[in-house]
Amino acid sequence: MDVSRDPINMTYIKEASEILRQGGLVAFPTETVYGLGGDAKDKEASKKIYAAKGRPSDNPLIVHIAKFSQLEEITANLPETAKKLADAFWPGPLTMVCNKNEVIPYETTGGLDTVAVRMPNNPVALALIEDSGCMIAAPSANTSGRPSPTKASHVYEDLSGKIEAILDGGPVDIGLESTIVDLTEDVVTILRPGFINMEMLKEVVGEVRMDPGIVYNDKGTTSGAKPKAPGMRYKHYAPKGDLTIVSGNEEKVISTINQKTESAIAKGSKVGIIATSETADRYNLGQVLVIGDRSDEGSIAHNLYDILRQFDELDVDIIYSESFSTPNMGQAIMNRLLKAAGQKTIEV
Ligand code: AMP
Ligand code: MG
Repeated sequence: MDVSRDPINMTYIKEASEILRQGGLVAFPTETVYGLGGDAKDKEASKKIYAAKGRPSDNPLIVHIAKFSQLEEITANLPETAKKLADAFWPGPLTMVCNKNEVIPYETTGGLDTVAVRMPNNPVALALIEDSGCMIAAPSANTSGRPSPTKASHVYEDLSGKIEAILDGGPVDIGLESTIVDLTEDVVTILRPGFINMEMLKEVVGEVRMDPGIVYNDKGTTSGAKPKAPGMRYKHYAPKGDLTIVSGNEEKVISTINQKTESAIAKGSKVGIIATSETADRYNLGQVLVIGDRSDEGSIAHNLYDILRQFDELDVDIIYSESFSTPNMGQAIMNRLLKAAGQKTIEV
């Protein structure tokens, strides 16, 4: 259903609200990626979400709300930092993990005593939450293991026939999932990097740390700690082609990718290259796709998942990508790209 944003088609919102209240599933746009929503208080709806995605049931869902009071309604011992962060970043791409009370069932939180909550900054999402009267449990609306959906057509590819409705609100704004912070320990901890970065969080709450389980050293391995967000432990966003990231001096990156592409093609492989508008014409072999402008990191975040899906369709065997350690979203972009690559990088 094409709901458009301005003005929103309330007939479709009302239809979708009714589906949610009856325990069905609706995919809807948020500013980060499309979500696959069900009534967060309804354990049967949560079970359906896991089934539709093929998602492991110990990987908890994010509860989407439209008012701060809903956070208070479903949590226990809410710290003051929650209010500060909400004032600064909600509605927006920040998810807070807090201690849960009995309102949200364990089926929604993957058996955890904590609940992840976010107020999305998208008029369609907010209208749906308000009109349905439901808090909406929603992970990304993709089949588990595929890139997150940034357009309604991506949702259709993965979930058509498995859910009751898709609300099409056009392409999303950001294109990477929310930043997740854990508020249940003494120090605010980033469990998943996103658009809201460490510096922005520090300005509001002072000390912030990164979950040691998601910090990779230059050999591509972690400190050994397990990531605290269950979703960060799974192999994720994996394209069909074997993806390698090439990083370092730009000239060397280009010549390395050109050499490797040439020898892979000589061996009979089909090769894809993820380039930027600044570098695309420097690659003369392989299937080159432009992810965005190096000077506009938002464009890179916005197109990342769409590019990975395009390479799946092109059926390439091998993909080489430039590296995007950009100033503000670099950590979030590289976190997703490295996961898609299974941490395979070549430093030149
Ligand atoms: P998705 O919306 O598909 O990106 O998935 C939600 C993400 O939030 C996954 O990585 C989950 O592991 C994470 N998450 C949800 N609830 C919690 C929680 N209570 N504690 C830690 N991580 C959570
Ligand atoms: Mg996901």
